[in-house]
Amino acid sequence: MSDVVGYERKGRIGVITIDSPPVNALSQAVRSGLVEQVARAVADDEAEAILLICAGRTFIAGADISEFGKPPKEPGFLEVTNALEGSPKPTVAAIHGTAFGGGLETAMSCHYRCAVPSAKVGQPEVKLGIIPGAGGTQRLPRLAGVEAAVNMIVTGKPVPAPKAKKLGIIDEIVEGDLLEGALAYVGRLEDEGAPVRRTRDISLDRSAVPEGFFAAYREGIAKKARGYFAPEMCIQAVEAAVDLPFDEGIQREGEIFVECMRNPQAAALQYVFFVEREAAKIPDVPKDTPLRSINKVGIVGGGTMGGGIAMAFANSGLPVTMVEADQGALDRGLATIKKNYERSLASGRFTEVQVAERLGRISGTLEYGDLADADLVIEAVFEDLGLKKEVYAKLDAVCKAGAILATNTSTLDVDEIAATTSRPADVIGLHFFSPANVMRLLEVVRGAATAKDVLATCMKMAKAIGKVGVVSGVCFGFIGNRMLEGYLREAGLMLLEGASPAEVDAAMYGFGFPMGPFAMSDLAGLDVGYRVRKERGIEPGSEPSSVVADRLVEGGRHGQKTGAGFYRYEEGSRAPVPDPEVVRIIEEEAARLGIARRELGEEEIVTRCVYPLINEGARILEEGIAIRPSDIDVVWINGYGFPPYRGGPMYYADQVGLKKVYDAIRAFRERHGEHWEPAPLLGKLAEEGDTFLGWAIKKAMKK
Ligand code: NAD
Repeated sequence: MSDVVGYERKGRIGVITIDSPPVNALSQAVRSGLVEQVARAVADDEAEAILLICAGRTFIAGADISEFGKPPKEPGFLEVTNALEGSPKPTVAAIHGTAFGGGLETAMSCHYRCAVPSAKVGQPEVKLGIIPGAGGTQRLPRLAGVEAAVNMIVTGKPVPAPKAKKLGIIDEIVEGDLLEGALAYVGRLEDEGAPVRRTRDISLDRSAVPEGFFAAYREGIAKKARGYFAPEMCIQAVEAAVDLPFDEGIQREGEIFVECMRNPQAAALQYVFFVEREAAKIPDVPKDTPLRSINKVGIVGGGTMGGGIAMAFANSGLPVTMVEADQGALDRGLATIKKNYERSLASGRFTEVQVAERLGRISGTLEYGDLADADLVIEAVFEDLGLKKEVYAKLDAVCKAGAILATNTSTLDVDEIAATTSRPADVIGLHFFSPANVMRLLEVVRGAATAKDVLATCMKMAKAIGKVGVVSGVCFGFIGNRMLEGYLREAGLMLLEGASPAEVDAAMYGFGFPMGPFAMSDLAGLDVGYRVRKERGIEPGSEPSSVVADRLVEGGRHGQKTGAGFYRYEEGSRAPVPDPEVVRIIEEEAARLGIARRELGEEEIVTRCVYPLINEGARILEEGIAIRPSDIDVVWINGYGFPPYRGGPMYYADQVGLKKVYDAIRAFRERHGEHWEPAPLLGKLAEEGDTFLGWAIKKAMKK
């Protein structure tokens, strides 16, 4: 008898209930329970039809990913789907919550499907680097049509129940109680004499797709899917559905699935999936730490970041009060927010009602007193310590006791800011990335005095507004920007040594970044780095890695916003155009510094940009700035465009082999100087034949 799959007859309907918290994943126990109970229902003479339903918060949410990479255990998925589909009595799935992956595949192997309106269905396997492996690629096109199916399988995006009904994935929407509604639905089917209806028997062939459909589809996704292995495999599996009879299609799907599992991308993407969740865990902050409630948010400064942060909160339903220094700045800030929402309306991302709701949640003021009832205040004024201290003095005076005071500073010392208030335990860094309403990463900067409940509350808040929060200790640049320094330094030096901005960018684009370091710098604005260097006492023209950037800024080339930086930009275009003028400046600077130019290959460019990330990452770990190597990976994937299918810089280093990385860094140290000094932790792990992951596991076990 199965513990997690029950059987009960209700009148003439045999009801199979999966009750395997938290999400009824298709574990071995659920699979064997299902096979057993379907057989029982089929054998039950009193049962005319079989209803499959789940207890708890969701239908089968997917496969049990803890079984991934382990030897398969009987019964396999296909045995489950064959049992449900092969049943001589009609089988009906009743869906609530999410029917994702194996969940949807199970539902599609039933003869009919009903769902509550809030349910969602989807095949998100592609996000884990694989394809649906239990008939999803063969059944979904039969139910939803080839175009909708290939789209769902290649993008992995969920589809809400009402749309799924339109597509033919779901037959009936059930309002109110699911069990009651589903029983009534099955009863009606029985009354109508509804037959056994197997998805596998729906005919599908090339005539179902327009000429050239797959070629056009491939072309359409080429840019988004660049570098990824699984999307093409998804397309091939759906092609098999139209080209082959069902059983052969299933066999082909199985082969493609195995091919995906063997590709290193699958392991990397599954790692990313796990570690993004892991990042929320903070070893010395217990899971049950009582949280402060955040119902009202204040923002100080309505510029680029303040406006984006306001939108991020308004989008998740929280009211926001934005304080500005003067009426002009306030009007400009609010107008930008309005313009951004209007753009979302025009692109169809939000409806008119949604835009109105969101705008309605944001109010502007010049009075700090209006923040008196805010639960969380985020300061995003100019990057100027004196100014920030003034702002914090005002916040300290007006904010209620227990309010969380956060700073969005990129470079200033959170502890120093906290020390200017009478409540340093309530102060924290919340480092959003630009555009703050879009970028998923949020570095949550834990000051020396930050209270545990403040930290825990901010991590929960990050999730609530759709961000992935990563804890960072206090240091210059925190995790992400601190590592960026070495990356940009090498990119800058390679210009002098002989590469062009376009060559460096092409190499990094080829590695999988959405854009290379110079296109990125142009986008962010070259004046930003210029100012930061000056503030740190680095005179323009004095640091080889930034001499070219300094010359560009001083010549009025601040990047995209001025129409020129490392590249030229045509009026109204964001496409970087290589500029001979920049090459001339580079050559002049190289000559001035006595650097002989040579040709740099793609491999050298990639190595010299990526290895500093690994080296600095190792230091960040040693110093305890990041809790675990995977947190660094999460930062670089979500904030800087490191290709997810390579798992992040630290995971990538483990794959390359730390000894190889260490040896290369030592050789660079010989050739290029002390900025390549290897991090002691990297040296130690390399000598011991260890990995960052191994180090993290040992560290966690010691605690
Ligand atoms: P910004 O210049 O676009 O905006 C700053 C705003 O602060 C201006 O609108 C200004 O009027 C307002 N302001 C100044 N003094 C004020 C006061 N006393 N009270 C209220 N408002 C005041 O700057 P930004 O790019 O939004 O950066 C803001 C902060 O965010 C900085 O600390 C910066 O380092 C940090 N940051 C910026 C980025 C980025 O990409 N721009 C990314 C992460 C963090």
